[in-house]
Amino acid sequence: MSLHRGYAGTESDEVAGFREQVRGMLSAFDEKDFESWEQDRHIPKEVIASLGEAGLFRRRWERGAERGVPRLVAMCQEICDVSSGLALVAMGQSEVFIGALQWLGKGERQKALLEDALDGRTVGCFGATEPRGGSSLAGMRTTAVAVEGGWRLTGCKRYISNVGRADQILVLAKMENPAHVGDLSLFLLPLDHPGVTIDGFFDTMGLHGCDVGQVTFDAELPADALLGNHGVGLLYATHLLQFERLAICAQLIASAATALRLAVAYARRRSIGNDRIMDKQAIRHRLAACQAELWNLEARLAQLVDIAQRDGRMPSHGIAALKLTAGESACRIIDTAMQVFGARGYSKNFPLERFWRDARLSRLGGGTDEVLADMVASGIDRQDPPFEDLISRLSMSDLPRMDDR
Ligand SMILES: Cc1cc2nc3c(=O)[nH]c(=O)nc-3n(C[C@H](O)[C@H](O)[C@H](O)COP(=O)(O)OP(=O)(O)OC[C@H]3O[C@@H](n4cnc5c(N)ncnc54)[C@H](O)[C@@H]3O)c2cc1C
Repeated sequence: MSLHRGYAGTESDEVAGFREQVRGMLSAFDEKDFESWEQDRHIPKEVIASLGEAGLFRRRWERGAERGVPRLVAMCQEICDVSSGLALVAMGQSEVFIGALQWLGKGERQKALLEDALDGRTVGCFGATEPRGGSSLAGMRTTAVAVEGGWRLTGCKRYISNVGRADQILVLAKMENPAHVGDLSLFLLPLDHPGVTIDGFFDTMGLHGCDVGQVTFDAELPADALLGNHGVGLLYATHLLQFERLAICAQLIASAATALRLAVAYARRRSIGNDRIMDKQAIRHRLAACQAELWNLEARLAQLVDIAQRDGRMPSHGIAALKLTAGESACRIIDTAMQVFGARGYSKNFPLERFWRDARLSRLGGGTDEVLADMVASGIDRQDPPFEDLISRLSMSDLPRMDDR
């Protein structure tokens, strides 16, 4: 049974059918697998291979990037239900690695790589963040230098999801002597290439199913390691990030919905004295407020999905705003659900503590709350003549009144 009947109940039969297929593909794995991924802190490559072979990524991409967004959302919700670590890995594979190759891939080698990625034979990850930071790419140190026959790529990328089980990393690098700090480019770097070292992994708070590591490289690459045109990598990465952000929203909303339904079911069953805890107004109203918040998020997600599908574009400011609010709201909803469970919520015997840990990444990865808030602010910090006129008129009459009493 799917826990998510579409986003805000607006799902077409076609997407519902895709959802059903994703569920079928995921049935190849069970609780023991999910647990072992969390314990090993890696998603085995074979899992992506199995999903690719079953057609997950091909079906996601059948209708193209934007028009396939309803399938992306369904895919994220279903995978997130079984493993948020796997959802992170699948999202990186599908939306960033395949997304980049679909959009920019040309030439025999890049096209072959795309086919391999769609079938899950090649697993990709994405490297933008560096030890000096991830929010500002202007200070990026990784450099690409043109050499005879290709490129020399030198640098270090940190906090890279699934770098431990990926075959390729898509590296964002600055060009030698750039005209602008934003002159970045995207490169395909095989992780088994001479000069590439995986330095190790970070022990993180949540999402234990997916490793997060650091990679250092000083590698000579062929000319076709460059993806797309050089100097426009930042624009490419920013566009690809829209899909990743929307996918994160779908996962967050799915996790919050699951946590809330669990909490309501528990509150209806657990009694204290003669009352169910669902009858305690303090609990009842908190759960109601969470449900109201969740419906708003689901409705907004449905709107954004609709825009992407109908207009064939990603509404970047709307997506940033949803991720900003969904991150905070989902963390709060999951926290409330945990509270309703009492000590059980804090225990690993129940999934609330895992949801709680996993959801927190969303406020950092794919653009921090602060970076997204800046982006939303840049969209509203614009001229607005009718309201500027209104302020002028109000200001003109903003005088003290004579007291004639
Ligand atoms: C589990 C995990 C997985 C990740 N996976 C990947 C991945 O696959 N690939 C990848 O490239 N990166 C990945 N990251 C890195 C992630 O994208 C970065 O953590 C994020 O971009 C923030 O960068 P930072 O951690 O260096 O923080 P910093 O850039 O050092 O920022 C620190 C704080 O300052 C705030 N800040 C920064 N600039 C401003 C500003 N101008 N105004 C106000 N506040 C500001 C930030 O919002 C943040 O709160 C991952 C991180 C984690 C934890």
